[in-house]
Amino acid sequence: MSVTELSTRTPTARVERSLCGWGRTARSRCRVFQPCEPQDVVDVLASEAHAERGVIARGAGRSYGDAAQNDGGDVLDMTGLNRIVSIDGERGLITAQAGATVAQLMTALAPHGLTLPVVPGTRHVTLAGAIASDIHGKNHHRDGGLARHVAAISLCTPAGGLTVLSPETDPDLFYATLGGMGLTGVIVEATLRAEPLPSPWVTADVDRTDGLTQTLELMSGPERHRYSVAWLDLLADGSKLGRAIISRADPLGSDGAPPAARGRRAPRAAYPGALSRRPAFEVPRGFPAALLRPASMRTFNALRWRATPRRERGQALAMAPYFFPLDALGEWNRLYGPAGLIQYQFVIPSGQEVALERCFELMRTRRLPVYLAVFKRFGPAFGGPLSFPLEGWTLAADLPAAAPGLWAALDELDEVVAGCGGRVYLTKDARLRRETMAAMYPELDRFHAQRARVDPNGVLRSDLARRLGLCWSAL
Ligand SMILES: Cc1cc2nc3c(=O)[nH]c(=O)nc-3n(C[C@H](O)[C@H](O)[C@H](O)COP(=O)(O)OP(=O)(O)OC[C@H]3O[C@@H](n4cnc5c(N)ncnc54)[C@H](O)[C@@H]3O)c2cc1C
Repeated sequence: MSVTELSTRTPTARVERSLCGWGRTARSRCRVFQPCEPQDVVDVLASEAHAERGVIARGAGRSYGDAAQNDGGDVLDMTGLNRIVSIDGERGLITAQAGATVAQLMTALAPHGLTLPVVPGTRHVTLAGAIASDIHGKNHHRDGGLARHVAAISLCTPAGGLTVLSPETDPDLFYATLGGMGLTGVIVEATLRAEPLPSPWVTADVDRTDGLTQTLELMSGPERHRYSVAWLDLLADGSKLGRAIISRADPLGSDGAPPAARGRRAPRAAYPGALSRRPAFEVPRGFPAALLRPASMRTFNALRWRATPRRERGQALAMAPYFFPLDALGEWNRLYGPAGLIQYQFVIPSGQEVALERCFELMRTRRLPVYLAVFKRFGPAFGGPLSFPLEGWTLAADLPAAAPGLWAALDELDEVVAGCGGRVYLTKDARLRRETMAAMYPELDRFHAQRARVDPNGVLRSDLARRLGLCWSAL
């Protein structure tokens, strides 16, 4: 397949802008530049060699914290480099530029009977942003994270310019880049291994549990389904805390329509083309945070839990709303008001379930207002020194950033997580401390060794990197 979208634009001049992550917490002033051709990236990195505050790449800005911003310095907005370069239907490979989104990639792959093997909970992230975070999906226990499916990367580094990397040519730099948060270079293009798309449907088994013990029991057994995820109610009282709606699903066969839709027209939401549509509803600017309170969310959770059958088997669901339910509401982060939200995502290794229960207990005793909690199982770790997934349990908890006592409670949780060999997900982070992060990522030296090789003057810098001691300046 040939290029689908040809760029006729010219690179923008550097424009000063206020940037933040999806959580809308820490803002910074950055000079933003949008390259249109790979050579623009090479030129910017060369011009940064003696710049004081450095530069970092930014995709769609869907990381929650301060990873894709650089206070007082430069930011490369990579969304202008968004072409699908080629699709090799026979070998199942897709090559695209850094700024192509998951929605774009899935839409381009569908006519070839292919799809992406790993997707996050939103289709609006860019290819390079997903690689730089080594994202995981609902199938990590079966298929690993994105790192397992990247065949090659074109990376521009301050020391080496533009290079094509693969696990065969330079495994150390390749894996340090997967999950490397943009700090080993700017990804310009990447090739992923796609997989067959049998139909735009999944078939889901849904179970409702009454409390945490039952939830953990049900999720502890051997998992035969391809996708598995639980929505937890962490605002419920007493023994109801941790009650869940557990959804386990598999791709539906190849006839293209679910059993219930045979003989009728399948809903348009089923087709990957639906991915490019804008959401029907968008939260307006200035939405009053006061509307989102523990009491109203407790009621919402209870209604949602009650509205779900105790046990349902073989429910046919359209792929797009199944994988990206939050995309139905545009700009939903505005629900949290001007103070924003923290998404606290951690993983606890298998065998450390006591620590997991301690985390839930801490959230309960510190009265953390967890408005949304998503719980999953991870398969074995794979990939780079900063990759997040470890075999075990992961919880992603959305919290209003202005909640009283939140920072201190999260510090306590960090201690429990680090103490049992677990870690916090950097792409969601906005507040982790440097020492705790170092305890969570024991292969940090491997990462620094690669940085010293490709960025000896410390040109690649971000707010997250400064906060966590992941970058330095030789100037
Ligand atoms: C609603 C929602 C649901 C989500 N669900 C999941 C999920 O299920 N699983 C999961 O793993 N994550 C999930 N995420 C997190 C998201 O997938 C990651 O934060 C992803 O990195 C965002 O991509 P982006 O294009 O917005 O990157 P940005 O937020 O712009 O940047 C993220 C990181 O990538 C780096 N980067 C961006 N472009 C480049 C480039 N060209 N070269 C080098 N580095 C670059 C940046 O420097 C930064 O460090 C979710 C986020 C949201 C908002």
